[in-house]
Amino acid sequence: MSAVAEAVAEGKLPGRVWMYADYHCNLACTYCLTESAPKAPRRVIGRERMLEIAGEAAELGFTDLGVTGGEPFLLRWLPEALAEMSERLPVLVLTNGTLFTRRRLAELAPLVQRDVAMQISLDRPDPDDNDEMRGPENFRKVVDAVPKLVDKGIKVRIATTVESIEDAELDRLCALHRELGVPDEDHIVRPIVRRGRALDHDLGVVAHQVDVPAELTVTVDGAFWSPFGPTVHDGVVDTDLLITRTTRPLSTAANAMLRLTGELPEGDDVALNIR
Ligand code: SF4
Repeated sequence: MSAVAEAVAEGKLPGRVWMYADYHCNLACTYCLTESAPKAPRRVIGRERMLEIAGEAAELGFTDLGVTGGEPFLLRWLPEALAEMSERLPVLVLTNGTLFTRRRLAELAPLVQRDVAMQISLDRPDPDDNDEMRGPENFRKVVDAVPKLVDKGIKVRIATTVESIEDAELDRLCALHRELGVPDEDHIVRPIVRRGRALDHDLGVVAHQVDVPAELTVTVDGAFWSPFGPTVHDGVVDTDLLITRTTRPLSTAANAMLRLTGELPEGDDVALNIR
């Protein structure tokens, strides 16, 4: 058994490897960790590199892949690439869910019957409250897209990112996601992290290295401790959670991660458990 497979089996290392597909986005949310926006620097990792990472991750003994951004589905080649990656390991892709017009839904055909799940952001049960931080029409587009994705046979998770939410509002949000075809086990609620644009708006919780799970995350700039690592502030990528600039081969980054996780104290030391 490889060192990674052993660490994953023993629960010392989460099994998922994340990759940042890009950093640009059709939205510009108030709390965005990466200062993403339509004209943000793209920092696209590239289709070939993503497939290469998927293959290396599987060989090293990782068990899952995660794809985030930016908005990954701005990359037109993404569905084909995700389908190919899922031949190596199950894939979770994070998306704002607002690009799925009829034509774009048809382009998702390669994902049907594949081990690819989409995690879509939906923060509030009311359009005005939801769209306040995420932009006009966000709620309508998400609520329109989710049942269509579910009908296509694509697994959808809903992620709710909030400063706080009252029980009654959460109950209405849960009723909504159930109505859209997403069960309770596929709904996560998590705090805003105080990085990126959230810093400028005085939002969110401060997350240090020990507060977030050690999930190897690869970007064009290097390998990071967590997908909450390669955030952007004032146009500059944060490096406080950078592990190494060397991501080829992936084993270099994985070994650096193993050394760091080996230094963590035993026990449940991840305080915020933000995912
Ligand atoms: S939070 Fe997500 S959807 Fe919003 S701007 Fe950032 S990357 Fe785009």
